[in-house]
Amino acid sequence: MLRYQEWADRALAGGTLSREEARACLQTPAENIGALTDAVFRVREAAWGRRVKICVLNNVRSGLCPEDCFYCSQSNISTADISAYPLKTMASIYRGAEEAVRGAGARRYCMVASGRGPTDRDIEHLADCIRNIKSDFPDLEICCSLGLMRESQARRLKDAGAGWINHNLNTSERFYSSVCTTHTYQDRIETVQAVKAAGMHTCSGGIIGMGETERDVLDLAFTIQSLDIDSIPVNFLHPIRGTPLGDQPSTRLEMGLRTLSLFRFLNPRKDIRAAGGREFNFGADSYRVLYAANSIFVEGYLTTSGQTAEDAHRMIESHGFEIEH
Ligand code: SF4
Repeated sequence: MLRYQEWADRALAGGTLSREEARACLQTPAENIGALTDAVFRVREAAWGRRVKICVLNNVRSGLCPEDCFYCSQSNISTADISAYPLKTMASIYRGAEEAVRGAGARRYCMVASGRGPTDRDIEHLADCIRNIKSDFPDLEICCSLGLMRESQARRLKDAGAGWINHNLNTSERFYSSVCTTHTYQDRIETVQAVKAAGMHTCSGGIIGMGETERDVLDLAFTIQSLDIDSIPVNFLHPIRGTPLGDQPSTRLEMGLRTLSLFRFLNPRKDIRAAGGREFNFGADSYRVLYAANSIFVEGYLTTSGQTAEDAHRMIESHGFEIEH
């Protein structure tokens, strides 16, 4: 008997899934995916209606990173053909925010900088940028993704007007050393804890499709749930030639929907973001992620392109969803 509606009822009543049920969610047969997404949509709709939050990324510093994250085109070991540049100027970062709001209808602007972590000088520069942006766009949600960070650095960004810090756990603790050797899972957890200690909203999720097992996805999902993360980006690996994971197979839509459904059942009221790799892996079917996720990125990712804002708006509205303003 299908139990998806029962899981939805439980999530709506404040309950959760057992590990066995979570495994069953990830093993949903292809012919039952429609029933799964019907059920998970009830959970999504209760918290977020049909609203879709548009997020725009700005890669404010690219490449030249000393770390070796195997999925990343900007790492020390990547030979991918990307443009590398130092931290952008205030005018350029401001312009990115203006385009995100006026051009893409974004609710959230995420500034991402390559590197192990920010220097205090980086933080000062970004804090100045944030103050400048917030004075003209007070309703724009500002998120920073700058690598490993101390509580004091997070506090300075918060004082400037940033609300969120992104730092993804990416996968399970067990699998982590298979995708990065220059820092540890614990380093990542400590950054998330520092963000919480600073009184900011946390944004942390993972990447599906790096060669992890079902057990790793379950571990990641329950770790994210236990950390009570506010905003959860679920990325689907876009394999980039020149990175160690450049030959990984793409992720099938069914797996994407099972995974997003699991994160929604475990985090009924949280911001679930169908993030990087959506377009690459799911193509024209990527609208189906909206049954579980309430947020997507438009206008591309760090070093890969994505859906234009115009196409994303059309996709959202033609499938009965609405853009969050
Ligand atoms: S993910 Fe971040 S820390 Fe890792 S290699 Fe890429 S830019 Fe560096």
